[in-house]
Amino acid sequence: MPVNGLPPYNSQNIFARILRGEIPARKIYEDEFAFAFHDINPQAPTHVLVIPKGAYCSFADFSATATEAEITGFIRAVGKIARDLGLEAPGYRLLANTGEHSGQEVAHFHIHLFAGRPLGRMIPG
Ligand code: AMP
Repeated sequence: MPVNGLPPYNSQNIFARILRGEIPARKIYEDEFAFAFHDINPQAPTHVLVIPKGAYCSFADFSATATEAEITGFIRAVGKIARDLGLEAPGYRLLANTGEHSGQEVAHFHIHLFAGRPLGRMIPG
């Protein structure tokens, strides 16, 4: 179902294939609602991607159409992953690219979790 002008979810996207086990990933966490793995091209000492198990193209899609249980479960998983990685005290950054202006490359909703050094300005320039 298109949301906010987005194309429909494409089940051949790379994160869908990771969820189905068709492509390997360096998994760090999994539960009913979320799957987390190391980014293949890390932009910080810790760069984890957290994705929902459901088929959502973007934050726009997820926030508008996921169930309450999926949203709660996913957000709690993100917090647990950061906590379990020992990142609460030093701090971390969450980022969700959404749509064209953000440069979103993979059309399965994902949250980037960056940590491991002072992360500098939020947006360069
Ligand atoms: P975005 O630009 O927000 O869509 O981010 C997509 C992210 O997915 C980038 O940081 C890529 O490095 C990462 N990525 C792409 N393919 C893979 C893969 N097979 N395994 C892990 N991370 C990936």
